[in-house]
Amino acid sequence: MKPNILVIAGHDPSGGAGIHADIEAIHSLGGLAATLITGLTIQNSQNVRGFELVDLNLLERQAETLLEDMQFSAVKIGMTGSPAIIRFIARLLDQLPGVPVILDPVLAAEAGGSLGEQSVPEALLGELFPRAMLATPNLPEAERLAGASGVVGAGETLLRHGCPNVLITGTHDDTDAVLNHLFSENQVRDWSWPRLAGSFHGSGCTLASACAALIARGLPLEQALTDSQGYVYRALQNAWQAGRGQLIPDRRG
Ligand code: PLP
Repeated sequence: MKPNILVIAGHDPSGGAGIHADIEAIHSLGGLAATLITGLTIQNSQNVRGFELVDLNLLERQAETLLEDMQFSAVKIGMTGSPAIIRFIARLLDQLPGVPVILDPVLAAEAGGSLGEQSVPEALLGELFPRAMLATPNLPEAERLAGASGVVGAGETLLRHGCPNVLITGTHDDTDAVLNHLFSENQVRDWSWPRLAGSFHGSGCTLASACAALIARGLPLEQALTDSQGYVYRALQNAWQAGRGQLIPDRRG
C-alpha cells in the first residue's frame, strides 16, 4: 500500500521548491502527496517577487472534501503564509489525532524574499510547533523563530515550544561540511555531509517531504532522518541549471 501524505504548502512556479518539490520527493519515495496549496508565489530560480495567499474558505472546503475520502499516514507542512492559515491548519490537525506532523517552518526562500506575513513566526510557535512531531528549520529560520543566535541556543529554545524533535539544517551556514543537528528531549544528534558547490532551490522542502514519506512508510524517526538526508544529498549532487539562478534538485531518487 502506498501511504497518503497530506501536504500543506505553497506553489513555486519555477518547479524547484514548494509543492512541486514535495510531490516529487513523496512520489519518488513511494507515497501519494495529497495537496492543500496555501499560497501562490511569484518567483523564478533567481528570486521571489511576491505571493498571494489562497482564500481560507476554499482551503476549508478542499480539506473537508479530502478528509471525507482519505486517511493520512503523515502530514507535511511548508509555507503557511499567514496566522489565519496557521489557525486553520491547527484545527485541521486536531481532526487527525495520532497522525505524525512534519513541519518545515518556511519563512523565506533560500535566495531571500519573504514567503509570509510578519506575524507568521509567532503563530507557528504557538499553534504548529506543539502539534508537530518533527520540525526542520534551517539555521536562519531557527534563529529567527527562537529569537536566539547559534544552533544550540536556537535548538534548545525551540524544543521548549512543544515539538519533541527539532532538526536544524546547516545548508545556509558557512562551515566546510553541512552539519545538521537534531535536538530531542534527551539528546542531540549530528549528521555531517560534504558541502556541495552551488546554491539549490527547494532543498528544505525536499528534506521535509522525504522525512514525511519515510515516516509514513513506518521508518523510525532517526532512520527516516538519515535516509532522507541521503536522498536529498543525491538529489543535490544531480541538481541542474534549469534557469539562471539556483540549481534544481533531481528528485528521481
Ligand atoms: N515553499 C515555497 C512555496 C517556496 O517558494 C520556497 C522557496 O522558494 C520554499 C518553500 C522554501 O524553499 P527551500 O526548500 O529552498 O528552503
